[in-house]
Amino acid sequence: MTDAAPITAYIGLGSNLDNPHTQITRAFDALAVLPDSKLVARSPLYRSRAVGPPQPDYINAVAALHTRLPALALLDALQGIEQAHRRVRKQHWGPRTLDLDLLLYGEHTLDLPRLSVPHPYLSERNFVLYPLADIAPTLVLPDGRSLAALLEHCDRDGLVPVNETELTTGAVSGTHL
Ligand code: ATP
Ligand code: CA
Ligand code: CA
Repeated sequence: MTDAAPITAYIGLGSNLDNPHTQITRAFDALAVLPDSKLVARSPLYRSRAVGPPQPDYINAVAALHTRLPALALLDALQGIEQAHRRVRKQHWGPRTLDLDLLLYGEHTLDLPRLSVPHPYLSERNFVLYPLADIAPTLVLPDGRSLAALLEHCDRDGLVPVNETELTTGAVSGTHL
């Protein structure tokens, strides 16, 4: 690691195949051991209705990472974790074992062929905004909009907190690490 101050990155996690709870728990574990990075918060888990073609409900969560990885190296690392979870891309917005979206990379706004941050749909997805608010309630986006203001226009339709007793793989809840 260099001496430069770390960037706070937020990662959206989603899964709706092959035991989604376990997929998300393992993904948090994988984020916790990324190089030049420290997992600093994990949100509670939520169940959400799928966007796109008919498919099972998702389990979603958000992680906060302090990282010194450049943005594209972080994206590579996230895609490496997706591959380790045997993600297969068949259909746009189709079911998947694990989806890791880079929601925010500090204050940066990037529009690269492989990477747009803030994530383009961040402000309209309740399964992103609510878990993000659990771990970063005072967050302000690079364009100046506050998370609190975005939540005022985002209903909770189809979004249900996962009761931890539903979990088969141990407790995962909103935790600052
Ligand atoms: P959505 O982006 O609407 O959530 P998705 O997660 O299903 O859709 P994927 O198939 O996972 O989309 O990703 C398609 C491509 O999006 C990836 O190959 C990646 O290069 C690109 N991408 C652009 N911006 C981001 C970002 N902020 N986080 C993750 N991937 C991104
Ligand atoms: Ca996604
Ligand atoms: Ca994705």
